[in-house]
Amino acid sequence: MVCKPIVAPRLVRVVIDRAIHRELDYSVPDSLAERVSVGSRVRVPFRDKSGLATVVATLEHSDAKGLRPIEAVVGDAPMLSTHLLELANWIGAYYCCPIETVMRSMLPQVIRKAKVGFKRQLFVQPGRKIDRDELEKLQKRAPRQAELLEAISKLEKPKRVADLLRQTSLDNQTLRALAKRGLAVLREEAVERDPHGDEQFIPTTNLVLNEEQTRVLKEITEALEAPEKARPILLHGVTGSGKTEIYLQAIRASLDRGHTAIVLVPEISLTPQTVERFKGRFAEAQDAVAVLHSHLSEGERHDEWHKIHSGRARIVIGARSAVFAPLKNLGLIVVDEEHETTYKQEEAPRYHARDVAVVRAKIEKCVVLLGSATPSLESYHNAMTGKYQLATLLQRVDEKQMPLMRIVDLRSERRKQKSLAILSDKLRDAIADRLGKREQTILFLNRRGFSTSLLCSNCGEARNCPNCSVALTFHRQVARLNCHLCGHTAAVPKKCPACGQDALIYSGFGTEKVEATVTQIFPNAMVRRMDADSMSRKEAYRETLRNFRAGKIDILVGTQMIAKGLHFPNVTLVGIINADLALHLPDFRAGERTFQLLTQVAGRAGRGETPGEVFVQTFTPFSPSIQFARHHDFAGYFQQELEFRERCDFPPFQHAVLITIRSEHEARAKFSAETLRRRLRETLPTEFVLGDAAPAPLQKLQGQFRFHILIRGGSRRISGLSRLIRETLDKLPFPEDVAVAVDVDPYQLL
Ligand SMILES: [Zn+2]
Ligand SMILES: [Zn+2]
Repeated sequence: MVCKPIVAPRLVRVVIDRAIHRELDYSVPDSLAERVSVGSRVRVPFRDKSGLATVVATLEHSDAKGLRPIEAVVGDAPMLSTHLLELANWIGAYYCCPIETVMRSMLPQVIRKAKVGFKRQLFVQPGRKIDRDELEKLQKRAPRQAELLEAISKLEKPKRVADLLRQTSLDNQTLRALAKRGLAVLREEAVERDPHGDEQFIPTTNLVLNEEQTRVLKEITEALEAPEKARPILLHGVTGSGKTEIYLQAIRASLDRGHTAIVLVPEISLTPQTVERFKGRFAEAQDAVAVLHSHLSEGERHDEWHKIHSGRARIVIGARSAVFAPLKNLGLIVVDEEHETTYKQEEAPRYHARDVAVVRAKIEKCVVLLGSATPSLESYHNAMTGKYQLATLLQRVDEKQMPLMRIVDLRSERRKQKSLAILSDKLRDAIADRLGKREQTILFLNRRGFSTSLLCSNCGEARNCPNCSVALTFHRQVARLNCHLCGHTAAVPKKCPACGQDALIYSGFGTEKVEATVTQIFPNAMVRRMDADSMSRKEAYRETLRNFRAGKIDILVGTQMIAKGLHFPNVTLVGIINADLALHLPDFRAGERTFQLLTQVAGRAGRGETPGEVFVQTFTPFSPSIQFARHHDFAGYFQQELEFRERCDFPPFQHAVLITIRSEHEARAKFSAETLRRRLRETLPTEFVLGDAAPAPLQKLQGQFRFHILIRGGSRRISGLSRLIRETLDKLPFPEDVAVAVDVDPYQLL
């Protein structure tokens, strides 16, 4: 490798934070030259203002005329490594979005805007020596100062003023007086806000691995030995097979080689329990583990980011955007629950963190490990075709059995009960049995609220959201109607606003009603609900989990929140109230999602000594995703689902790009969508299948009318297609009130 001498740059090319869709050149004044390099954040004059920007290249020469100088450098070191800049460019090209939008995701706002700094705190240490006379005088004239002085003289190292005053019950004025006499020295120091600073983590050691785990860990460490040759590893391990232990030991192996590691987990699984497992295992260097999640305060995020950037943190655990953690010397990226759709960002840049992790690993020549009990079709297909390396764990640790899955046909239940059954007789009996044995039950329903719609039995009008084309959900606790898409709330009308009749009926049910029903049937059981409504406070979440683990709750009712990664040995029964919710969505992934959800939720049962039992209530007992999940037949499921996708030209066989055109004015949205479709047909090669400009399944959302154009197929690289779409869009002047969004590899088809 030839090392070029480092020359201070005279000219730089930057990307300004504001979306202007192009790069600009600036000159660098001598006074700043030493501090500017690729990845630096700078302040530059732009039009008649100044703005923040990222340096993406240093130049020897620029064609631009009359270059203006940059005004200032933000921070000491470059904020983005050349590796991360390369990754940003890839994301922009692949996901069809401007580079400044990528930067917004890559650097947290608090870092980009550079408004928040380190927290500064006052520390105290002993000052000059005091002689006996002066001390006696002080004790007489100012006894409190003397008392404080005694405490200070005992300090072996600087102490936080706040702590000292609290311990001595003395006040700030007394301390200031001592400082004025030179008897105490006060100093401000930067301290870190550690979101987990007040928690104690009990150190843990490696667990003994079983034969399967040992083999898998060996494959990973071999990859760590020769990362430049390694393919991404897909770890398919059934629920309870000990994947996390593999992650922990693989990270240890990476650290032992002097490298760092990122662990991505879905936001919903980033529970105190998860953080504890990682912080505990690496307790000898607790500081070395940084945690990034959406509940951090701006200050905490600032400090965690700097802990990573400065190289003190060597392990980063976080949700989606942690894939951009500025770790150097990266050795391993773990993507847990790689099938999770929350890894896909639903606003620009619409990237998928798993796919970005694979690309980052390639750029940084490190190992990437994708783990799941129910791998995505995309990853599984990559493993089948040899693009990924497949590692499997088919046994639960300690040879615990997979839970027994029973299918309950709701069609016959409905005939029996004559009304909408929430609990079938079989599930009811099973719960009663568990209550008798003091074992715990989880009831799962993927829908919040009490009643999912309010209908008029006279005229048939449903109460819909005025902004979205969905029915409003009734929430009994707050006694209001609520839109789950835009947050609109409304009072519950006494009479039908359309026909004036007193004929309103509630129908459908959500978790709130399940909770009420269960409480009614089992009045002596302790029932708790866990969903976005009941868990709006972070504390409520922790408390419920703690109580459930301690056995103070018999039945836990909840949404996805309880489906992921939680580990409760005393749960022997899981009831899935309605398995069909996802199946009826107009989405080619509906079957896959149902299969994944059933398997994940079922995996919560039987994690302890007693085997688990799962009841799946469904109106479509013979649908393949339910039948394959029931038999824990992953390979069979993948096989049939892949055949279906191939027949229909869906991912993973063909790429898909979804363009959404929206406006408050329906006609304008429609016209723009049709124009765009015509232009795309002219531009795109015929190998791409271009769908009609059609109303989206969710036609109105947040007051906007929405139209879709779905593009599929093409053997070309997706970045080529993205470029053509971008060029077509740039040439089309859309009215100001029409917005266009391009989603490459979309997950939301509504
Ligand atoms: Zn009516
Ligand atoms: Zn709405």
